[in-house]
Amino acid sequence: MTSSDFDETRTGSEPVRPYRILVLGAGFGGLYTAVYLGKYLRNLPNVWITVIDRRNYFLFTPMLHSTATGALEPRYIAHSVRKIFRKTQIHAHIGEVLGVDLENRSVSTVHRTMTFDDLVLSLGSETNFYGLENTLENAFTLKSLQDAVAINNHLIRMFEKAYWEENPELRRGALTFVVVGGGPTGVELAGEIYEYANRELLRDFGRRINKNEIRVLLIEATGRILPSLPEHLSNEALDRLKKIGIEVFLDTRLKGYKNRILEIDGQSPIRAETLVWAAGVRTNPLISGLPLEKDPSGRIKVKGTLESCSKDHVWVVGDNASCLNPHEGKPYPPTAQTAVRQAKVAAHNIAARILRKPEKTFSHQHVGGFVSIGDNYALLSAKQFTVSGILGWFLWNLVYIHKLPIVRYRLFSTFGLFLKILFERATTEIDLCPEFEENPRKTTGSRRVMNPGDNRESRP
Ligand SMILES: Cc1cc2nc3c(=O)[nH]c(=O)nc-3n(C[C@H](O)[C@H](O)[C@H](O)COP(=O)(O)OP(=O)(O)OC[C@H]3O[C@@H](n4cnc5c(N)ncnc54)[C@H](O)[C@@H]3O)c2cc1C
Repeated sequence: MTSSDFDETRTGSEPVRPYRILVLGAGFGGLYTAVYLGKYLRNLPNVWITVIDRRNYFLFTPMLHSTATGALEPRYIAHSVRKIFRKTQIHAHIGEVLGVDLENRSVSTVHRTMTFDDLVLSLGSETNFYGLENTLENAFTLKSLQDAVAINNHLIRMFEKAYWEENPELRRGALTFVVVGGGPTGVELAGEIYEYANRELLRDFGRRINKNEIRVLLIEATGRILPSLPEHLSNEALDRLKKIGIEVFLDTRLKGYKNRILEIDGQSPIRAETLVWAAGVRTNPLISGLPLEKDPSGRIKVKGTLESCSKDHVWVVGDNASCLNPHEGKPYPPTAQTAVRQAKVAAHNIAARILRKPEKTFSHQHVGGFVSIGDNYALLSAKQFTVSGILGWFLWNLVYIHKLPIVRYRLFSTFGLFLKILFERATTEIDLCPEFEENPRKTTGSRRVMNPGDNRESRP
């Protein structure tokens, strides 16, 4: 649908009182829903669209691992929502959402309570530790920009530590990097860490550190990495990881990680100062608490129109939505691709409801997937078509850079990646809050709570 689909109904069709649409979350689902709503309803000044997020930027997660390994500057993948909305009628409200009252149709944030006529839930997911939270308190995750910067700093610091360390066991521990989870995030990160450590950091620290002292381990609980790709591509990815020197442990469960000692099935304890947990996600706790019909994984069940099955005028997109894929008979996977496509349909349907137009059903056939593995290598599968190697890597970059919402950052990122090919990745630390880096699991690093009164909107 384009904005012109609604043109004929504009004259005289504006609601008399302000019609409030609240979009919770400015990630892939929320941001794109708001952008499409802005297009479809742009001539209706009485429709107020407000997007609420705890942070003032949209985070482009598919490139987080590049930031975690010094290949892309943090701001290239974090784009100010105010800039994105500047030329639209959409309002941004930056603050933590504290509660949603579906009966009274209101949302409370750290700043105020706002009412809605239509609500879009797109608060994403959080890391699932599967009950291992306590043992993983020194583990990193890769969900936020802060996580990426903290990992990057930590990798550099481990090389600094090993540089002067005389005790061989402590040296080995500093230079052992573990990633848990063989999905796309874990595989991409393990590949990038390997390249970063062996190429970039070794250049800076090579006087006292040898290549054979560096270990990168990837641990996966099931018998296969990248289960979302066709099996031959999973196998190709596995071969690639092993070929470049990553130690892959399949069918291996993590039993514990205390005092930087890793315990896994079938191996004696391994000292590793770095562990990144990339083994799964679960629904945002705010979503879990809502009295809406959910599937067993806690995602909200939606109709084909993306409206909640149990509450009218509550729309759900992205990781929060459990929407059955009619082509496969199971819910769509929680990916950015799904979120962006759902955003367009949800926005269409909200606008169509206001303008009394026919609504659409969400249907999308998954065309394929991408995964990059270290420098200059990526696997791409789309329908019958598969590409790997440097061509895959170029396509991977082109596709993702093209999807960055701000054109200027597309240029920066393209330029940054070419610089990376020609020159080197960054090995400069970026100082963060010291407690966060010391203990990433205990500080709410990704949450920024502003003082009440900051950044108030003149209208909801
Ligand atoms: C490292 C990484 C790599 C990934 N790579 C890919 C990839 O290559 N391809 C792909 O398709 N998918 C990828 N994904 C998955 C993809 O990021 C998600 O599926 C997608 O972001 C889901 O969109 P969403 O809108 O549901 O949630 P999100 O994009 O996570 O947005 C949720 C938003 O809600 C905000 N929020 C949450 N709680 C609150 C609160 N209480 N108050 C205020 N604001 C709140 C958050 O700040 C966030 O901005 C990756 C994910 C990660 C972590």
